[in-house]
Amino acid sequence: MIVKSIKVKSALSKSGLRELDYSLNPYLGCVYSCPYCYAPNFTPNKEASENWGKVVIIKENLLEVLMKEVKIYKKGVVGISTITDAYQPIEALRKLTRESLKVLLKNGFRVSIQTKSPLVLRDIDVLLEYKDRVDVGFTVTSLNNRLEPNAPPARARLRALKKLSDEGLETWIFLGPIIQGINDMEIEDIIREISNIKVRVIFDNFHYYKGLKFKEGSTWWWVSLKNRILENCKRYDIECHEESEDWIYEKRKYYKTF
Ligand code: SF4
Repeated sequence: MIVKSIKVKSALSKSGLRELDYSLNPYLGCVYSCPYCYAPNFTPNKEASENWGKVVIIKENLLEVLMKEVKIYKKGVVGISTITDAYQPIEALRKLTRESLKVLLKNGFRVSIQTKSPLVLRDIDVLLEYKDRVDVGFTVTSLNNRLEPNAPPARARLRALKKLSDEGLETWIFLGPIIQGINDMEIEDIIREISNIKVRVIFDNFHYYKGLKFKEGSTWWWVSLKNRILENCKRYDIECHEESEDWIYEKRKYYKTF
């Protein structure tokens, strides 16, 4: 892997995701290089986007810029890891994500972390200090890493998730993308596996982006799978939503109250 550094003019960007106000990505490029990843399409650095999985770029002055922005930007929800995994291995050394969390939380922002890495456990002290303004989600698409061979093992993610949840943090699992004929046969096993964790499940099918090798599933397949997912969640008493449902708007309204 090649590691480079750049200086940035902004740390927070306005988020295009409905449930977030801002996004923060301390690194550009992602060493996990999942085959379904569409993040290169949204990465504003050619070197990182064209060499996905091989180049990671560190935003070396991120904290300095962030400290200025949190004083002038309206408080809101910051999504951590929207176009890269903020807990990929470089974070163990550089700690930009950890320090950014401290700056955001101390200054009244809410953070929503999504990762595939148990390294987030390292920051449990910071997360617990501000636990009413933090949620942590893990992406899980398969119990045997069929779709993410370079990312940390799915069972290690689930152990980390259980620890965070047992400590009283709001946790969730993003069960997706679910791809017809690739990982759809594992979804019910994953739901059974998480039945001992107090966690919310958000699931979604695969959406095609230019250059990806998978196809979107058929409507009949999705409707039938979706019903099975909901039935399984009900059986284990797990709160479960398809990503596009209205609960996201409800969540946003809730976040807007602080
Ligand atoms: S962890 Fe996320 S950002 Fe990184 S390659 Fe996988 S899908 Fe893309």
